Amino acid sequence: MRFLLIIIFFSCASLLFSQTEKTYFQQQVNYNIVVKLDDKNHELTAFEKITYTNNSPKPLTSLYFHLWPNAYKKYNSALGKQQLEDHNTKLYFAPDSILGFIDGLEFKVGDEKLQIEYAPYDEDICIVYLLDPLKSGESVEITTPFHVKIPKGIFSRMGHLGESYQITQWYPKPAVYDKDGWHQMPYLDQGEFYSEFGTFDVFITLPKNYVVGATGDLVNGEKELDWLTAIAEKTATIDSFDYKDMSFPASSDTTKTLHYHQENVHDFAWFADKRYHVLKGEIELPHSKRKVTSWTMFTNNEAYLWKNSIEYINDATYYYSLWNGDYPYNQVTALDGALSAGGGMEYPNITVIGESGDAFGLETVIMHEVGHNWFYGILGSNERDHGWMDEGINSMNENRYIETKYPTRKFVGNDSIAQKNIFKWLDISQYSHKTQYELGYLVNARRNLDQPIEETSAAYTPLNYGGIVYAKTAIVFDYLMAYLGEELYDKCMQRYFNEWKFKHPQPEDLRKIFEEETGKELSWFFSGLIKTTNKIDYKIAGSKKDTSNTENILLKIINKGEINGPFSISGVKDGKIITTQWYEPIGNKTFVPFKKGDFDNYRIDAELNIPEIKRKNNTLKTSGLFKTTEPIRLQWLGSLENPDKTQLFYTPIAGWNMNDKGMLGLAFYNSTFPSKKFEYVLAPMYAFDSENINGYASFFY
Ligand SMILES: [Zn+2]
Repeated sequence: MRFLLIIIFFSCASLLFSQTEKTYFQQQVNYNIVVKLDDKNHELTAFEKITYTNNSPKPLTSLYFHLWPNAYKKYNSALGKQQLEDHNTKLYFAPDSILGFIDGLEFKVGDEKLQIEYAPYDEDICIVYLLDPLKSGESVEITTPFHVKIPKGIFSRMGHLGESYQITQWYPKPAVYDKDGWHQMPYLDQGEFYSEFGTFDVFITLPKNYVVGATGDLVNGEKELDWLTAIAEKTATIDSFDYKDMSFPASSDTTKTLHYHQENVHDFAWFADKRYHVLKGEIELPHSKRKVTSWTMFTNNEAYLWKNSIEYINDATYYYSLWNGDYPYNQVTALDGALSAGGGMEYPNITVIGESGDAFGLETVIMHEVGHNWFYGILGSNERDHGWMDEGINSMNENRYIETKYPTRKFVGNDSIAQKNIFKWLDISQYSHKTQYELGYLVNARRNLDQPIEETSAAYTPLNYGGIVYAKTAIVFDYLMAYLGEELYDKCMQRYFNEWKFKHPQPEDLRKIFEEETGKELSWFFSGLIKTTNKIDYKIAGSKKDTSNTENILLKIINKGEINGPFSISGVKDGKIITTQWYEPIGNKTFVPFKKGDFDNYRIDAELNIPEIKRKNNTLKTSGLFKTTEPIRLQWLGSLENPDKTQLFYTPIAGWNMNDKGMLGLAFYNSTFPSKKFEYVLAPMYAFDSENINGYASFFY
């Protein structure tokens, strides 16, 4: 007895200990930055004052800072190395004149200088040693001047092209310190961000005729807002834009200083271009009815597509608010960035969009990037460690937006003749929009070359970064929503939003809310589908009479896959779904009751909600021989599974990269090699309208 009591005491004590050890806390970092743009030499001169509050239970003797402009300093930065691995040699061969860096740092507390030390291999991280330990609950004010040479905008997310400026990850910024310790990290392409929340006051001085888009609200900015509104009124009257005119007007001799203020954000980005046209709109939020101002800014280049951009940004803000919780800020901006060749990138309040080629592409990228205000901006998960929590859940919302706004849209739209012809040739034009996410997953999952959803960003092959983090996460959350029903799913996501907004949620926090709110045990989802590459495959194997209830038939279901999850069965007549019933997980096999009716067949997942690896065993005909054989036309992607004469298999995939490229491509893979080790994937990404081959190859040895 006594022995037992001691054990109980010790286990309680260790439980208490581990709980206090891992109690949630969050540091607060407030910024005051005064910055001046020199658009002759492409430089920033700035002074930063940060107020850092230590809310952790422990005193801190030093702080990690990110100095990310140094990612562009030399060929062998962490960014340079990652790009080289992906066969991108731009940084490797770049002359010094177009590289970028941050220097002129002198960290101080009061008048006293602080010692700093650069991380051994990454000059874009440093440790700043404090004069005295910063006790729990106390704040310290740290100042430093800094100077940034802006790199040419051809390497990654920061830079300038001529006098068009994309100023991102540009200032000294403390890394996150949370219950797991410091999260210092070098800047990378494949792998995004994790930052502390705080308040930003940024004062930008630049020639007067620059149009600026930035995080935050203008303070005492009536004059600037009047000027932008006047440009917007003028833009609205322009019928045709001269897309060939991309020249820069001369910069004004006089300058202006713009003060932006924003609370509850974890980054500050700004963009400046003298050529921008402007459009202005307003959204009434669905829950609070509060009004939010929307802005779009764009050059002549694709102005004809941007004419309707206010509709896209407003609809995105509305639907994300409706499903997840109201947008908490006053303004939302999307702008046309000259830097990225396609795709887009998100920052708090503001997103930058690359060349789109067609209106649907532009709408998709704007809505996706605006959506990151929720999944990255407001819900500040660690994107480097759990990329699915931002990119994946955001991609799920992206698909939901398109299915909601364009319910009849197919895999291929009416966007271009070239697109239509390719999809006709591949015999896939009949599939739904969501198919592209499913294919993104299946292209590697079918060959067991996939990786789990829960994995660090840098550990993914480029194909899996798109196919798993974005695509598989999107379809598994869609599966979860189909199973729970939209109302319950939205209730979970809204509780997640309310409890974790302006914080750093972890995967277990999301799981806890879903399990509490639904009253269901969801390990098949959060452990099985998120943490493993286990596949789903349900088979309908036969039927028998239900002697206990003559209104039902009993259907024999075998779980041939490795996930014990819920599934649906539909009664189908003339190719139409008549009725659908969901079933809880069954283990290995069982008979399930289904209400009899006038059906041609019973089919598992007829609504295509479940990411099944094999759909050929999903159907049971109600009469005739060979009851479980499915007609060819109903086979899922049947034509894709037929090799052509040359043994070259083809699978269209949706191509993504770190900039969220939405281009569709073809992944060619040769599966006749004897060993997977020699298998290769070559995915030439083809931008249909610009006719650019933007391919990459990944070799597995
Ligand atoms: Zn994204």
